[in-house]
Amino acid sequence: MSQPVIFVIDDDARVAAALRWDLDRRFGEDFRVIGETTAAAGLTALRTLADAGEPVALMIVDHDLSAMPGVDFLARGHEMHPLAKRVLLVERDYSAHSPVIQAMTLGQADYHITKPWLLEQDLYRLISEFLAEWAKDHQAGFELFHVVGRADRSTHELRELLTRFSVPFRFHTATSRQGRQLLTDGHLDPARLPVMIRHDGHTIVAPTPAQVIESTGGSISSDVDRCDLVIAGAGPAGLTAAVYAASEGLLTVVLEETVSGGQAGSSPMIRNYPGFPHGVSGRDLTRRACEQAWMFGAHMVFSQHAAGLESRGSDRIVRLAGGRQIAAKAVIVATGIAWRRLGVLRLEALVGSGVFYGAAGAEAQAMEGRDVFVVGAGNSGGQTALHLARYAQRVTMLVRGESLARSMSEYLVREIEVTSNISVRTRTEISDGHGTDQLDGLTLCDRRHGRLERVPATALFVLIGGEPRTRWLPETVQRRHGYVLTGRDVARAGTDPSRWPLDRAPLPLETSIPGVFAAGDVRCRSIKRVASAVGDGATAVRLVHEYLTAEHADEPEAAVGT
Ligand SMILES: Cc1cc2nc3c(=O)[nH]c(=O)nc-3n(C[C@H](O)[C@H](O)[C@H](O)COP(=O)(O)OP(=O)(O)OC[C@H]3O[C@@H](n4cnc5c(N)ncnc54)[C@H](O)[C@@H]3O)c2cc1C
Repeated sequence: MSQPVIFVIDDDARVAAALRWDLDRRFGEDFRVIGETTAAAGLTALRTLADAGEPVALMIVDHDLSAMPGVDFLARGHEMHPLAKRVLLVERDYSAHSPVIQAMTLGQADYHITKPWLLEQDLYRLISEFLAEWAKDHQAGFELFHVVGRADRSTHELRELLTRFSVPFRFHTATSRQGRQLLTDGHLDPARLPVMIRHDGHTIVAPTPAQVIESTGGSISSDVDRCDLVIAGAGPAGLTAAVYAASEGLLTVVLEETVSGGQAGSSPMIRNYPGFPHGVSGRDLTRRACEQAWMFGAHMVFSQHAAGLESRGSDRIVRLAGGRQIAAKAVIVATGIAWRRLGVLRLEALVGSGVFYGAAGAEAQAMEGRDVFVVGAGNSGGQTALHLARYAQRVTMLVRGESLARSMSEYLVREIEVTSNISVRTRTEISDGHGTDQLDGLTLCDRRHGRLERVPATALFVLIGGEPRTRWLPETVQRRHGYVLTGRDVARAGTDPSRWPLDRAPLPLETSIPGVFAAGDVRCRSIKRVASAVGDGATAVRLVHEYLTAEHADEPEAAVGT
């Protein structure tokens, strides 16, 4: 196959030539660097490459081409080369008006570089990172499993589990040629799907999550019955706690109901985690944390949910679903929230590229002049719509019920009514989403008549509520609306059996059971962000050390770290 292409276009011939020259010197051995100076010539060159089947790795496009905006050129180029990474070339401008902000938020570009690039080494480092990401998506590599299934829920769940567990696999529908062949070769019943066929022929029909995890090297049972710390939940909070606890010498067991990653693991792109200006896939971030915890010696147990908790003297006993128990000196509850999801597959794939769960923060400004949608009729939906209306051309609220009044505070309803660029569509649901790299439309269903309508949309904000995952905890753990109370929020007086039982005050993340801590989204007053869950996880471990030091002060060999 011919060398993959790095494609550069800038109206300014000197910039195009300089960039081409610099890139050629460093990457010329492995990539063909092509440069153009007009949009028309650029599109023709990309079309010729596509027709010849020559892969394009990077398209580096000036944002201010005279014939068309750079993002439009990227969109057209991407239609011809869907695997190419899109890089916007912009003037150095760290103001809020930089075109990069809108392009990145709306998923119109994957990366940016600034001109002039002062240090070649900085340019090379960035381009190397972009190329590494391209290579990851581009090279199919070794497939551990073939999965044969159909378009149903169990097949979707299996594919999602394998993806979240970073297992390389190839999917075939049961009606495809390869799918039929695999079923015939394995003497498999096409009525019993999905099936997983390992590279060595080992086959599992309609696998359970536990079977999937076990067959891919994950552990589903704990070989430890007694430890220093049990962490329930392997989202960002639990994984961070595991990294710190294990690295600081605590014998640590992590129990996770499914596979690691939590909500963050289901987010294709997290744009606001510090240190990743072009965003990071939630799966990559949490996979790395999981591996790090494991390498420090944490016992990671998947497909095992914590079903109960009790105190026995200084031991905290965590009960597992199958009846087994683990005794620990301390426990961190990091079981997060179950957010309600829209359940529209095409929209789930566009999370971070026009589809956002939760309130609009940094994204709001990037919506300037756009048509955006908000789903959710609670106060958070109302506040988000009002905030977005300051920037967007039009905000449409989609509400399943008859009106906003049933679920939203009156003052918000009134404010929405008098905001001219907000409209409310009642009795409306989203039945589908559109767009390959970024959201460009929605299909709405009018529940009154069952009528479907396709509308253009640049962004969708989803705020349909969620529930903290705390039902497994005993009554003695104080909660507000299901969220675990910690530190100064824990009620210390009264006759209630859940009151704090000791003379000392609870430590900051300590629950109403001494030695049991809560971290991340599950905690009352938490910020519901990856970074804050990470911060909570690290802090909770520090507090576990404090607790163990005080608790075992008289024991010469107390297990405490620094
Ligand atoms: C689609 C989406 C996109 C998001 N995008 C962003 C973003 O861009 N930026 C940002 O900062 N935040 C984002 N968030 C929010 C962020 O992901 C969460 O704030 C963060 O994941 C919370 O981490 P956590 O560890 O507290 O809980 P979670 O991530 O919820 O993890 C909890 C874990 O506990 C497990 N669990 C639950 N019950 C039990 C039990 N009984 N026993 C064992 N395990 C159990 C769950 O399976 C889960 O793995 C997003 C959330 C969603 C849903």
